[in-house]
Amino acid sequence: MGNLDYSESIFNGIENPNTFMYNAMIKGFSGSQKPEKSIGFFYKMLENGVKTDKFTYPFVFKACTLLSAIEEGKQIHGRTVKSGLNSDVYVQNSLMHFYANGENLGDACKVFDTGSGLNVSSWNTMVSGYLKFDEIESARQLFDEMLERDVVSWNCMMDGYVKIGDMGHACRLFNDMPKRNVVSWSTMISGYVQNSDYKEALNLFRRMQIERVNPNRITLVSVLPAIGHIGALCQGEWVHGYIDKHNMELDCVLGSALADMYSRCGKIRDALCIYERIVHVSNCITWNAMIQGLAMHGQGIDALKAFSRMQSLGIAPDHDTFVGVLSACNHAGLVEEGLKYFSLMKEKYNVMPGIKHYGCLIDLLGRAGRFDEALDVIHNMPMDADAVIWGSLLGSCRNNHNIELGEYAAKKSMELDPKDSGFYVLLSNMYADAGRWGDVERVRKDMNKRRVKKMPGCSSVELNGVVHEFTIKGSSHHPQKEDIANMLDEIEGRLRSVGYVPQTSEVLLNMKEEEKEAALYRHSERVALAFALISTGPGTPIRIVKNLRVCEDCHWVLKLVSSLYEREILVRDQNRFHCFKNGSCSCLDYW
Ligand code: ZN
Ligand code: ZN
Repeated sequence: MGNLDYSESIFNGIENPNTFMYNAMIKGFSGSQKPEKSIGFFYKMLENGVKTDKFTYPFVFKACTLLSAIEEGKQIHGRTVKSGLNSDVYVQNSLMHFYANGENLGDACKVFDTGSGLNVSSWNTMVSGYLKFDEIESARQLFDEMLERDVVSWNCMMDGYVKIGDMGHACRLFNDMPKRNVVSWSTMISGYVQNSDYKEALNLFRRMQIERVNPNRITLVSVLPAIGHIGALCQGEWVHGYIDKHNMELDCVLGSALADMYSRCGKIRDALCIYERIVHVSNCITWNAMIQGLAMHGQGIDALKAFSRMQSLGIAPDHDTFVGVLSACNHAGLVEEGLKYFSLMKEKYNVMPGIKHYGCLIDLLGRAGRFDEALDVIHNMPMDADAVIWGSLLGSCRNNHNIELGEYAAKKSMELDPKDSGFYVLLSNMYADAGRWGDVERVRKDMNKRRVKKMPGCSSVELNGVVHEFTIKGSSHHPQKEDIANMLDEIEGRLRSVGYVPQTSEVLLNMKEEEKEAALYRHSERVALAFALISTGPGTPIRIVKNLRVCEDCHWVLKLVSSLYEREILVRDQNRFHCFKNGSCSCLDYW
């Protein structure tokens, strides 16, 4: 800005500036924070009778685009027609861009259709114009008609498909394009992440490494969430190394993405180190991610400390901050603190509680067995409780053996979300705990009648950069399936020798007792654990990512294995992290 102001003062000192000088000022300001000045210089030029040329208009239209000055732009368009400059391709391109960005696709088309000497960037502008108006068919038609296509044309069309979630078409273009650049790769990776296809995003990122394409900042910000979701720590560490090796600056966006990846991979300490490095550029989103990460690791007190530090830096908490704070209290069993922050959020911070906050509060009270208060909240909250809230109350009822309220909560949650198998499983488990097998059977029949299917469990372990996935069906496709089966037998034997008896109450199916035991035995996290034990050296920590909640029996097994085999085992389930060490878990059996 300083430079432009200086140029302007020199310009003002010139007696009769010529076209070239005016054009320089118009161009300079068209890309600045003050594009209105470009238009000011343009009018001054006309007033003083200085001749405009083909270098004047593209930047005037650029300024009009930035200012959304529709009428102004149309009038200036008229001037180009009068002066005959509208036949220049750069003037035409800037006009198309102006119209397409000014909610006026029709006029952009007119310029395109009557244009002369159009070049590849005219076609690109029109393709992206159509895409801006979600006219993907027209965009594609134009793209197919193009005689000359550069990487930008392909990227632009691909981005159009990615934006509407059509990864099939995007992928076909990606494979067909004669030449790809880093933008092509980044567009596809971020597309897969937006569509929650983390595996494919990671596959593409690996392919990019094999083809020796250097990722840029945008690629890394796109791929880090995928790495975090999958828990592919080796890949994440590779990205970190790449950032350091290339001296890439850790700004707020890249730094937060890197820290969040570490946190999701179970490396909360590494996450905190990164957060420390970006404190000076942090914003509310950074702190929310940090608080959420600490919450997932059950470090409630540290999450509350982060919350007060955030305020001492003058960063105001928002809606998401309090979701983090309340779930931190929840995961750490800090009931009184949770209640305190819930009332403070409205009174002191002026943040209105939404359904997620009420959900945390009800869960907090329910887990503590304070059901009257939990019900009070449900009845007095400004919105209706959803299936998630009733489901969490059902979970609390099960843990606190409150069958009567549990049945009511189950009825409510099933009404609101009849296809979620979790509620049936919880209800059935609650009956099983009480030895009410007839009721267990009834729930199972209900589930079959309503065609509710249990989501298959899936656990994964990363080994030397390769993610190994295990499902309840076991390891039948795994090359080491026999070793895994032997290890499962060995674990079973050692567990029994220290008094372990399988807790079959969580197995919903109507099976004979030994079948239930066998079903537990094959829970995906157990198979993943056996694989990790045979594939890593003594004392190496084990990390497992599971898509569902860990069941009670597996939780017990993991505790015992951590002491029998002297291993630290970190499990990320649907809700939080469990760190098993010396026979106990960081969640203190509260999850
Ligand atoms: Zn289990
Ligand atoms: Zn645990």
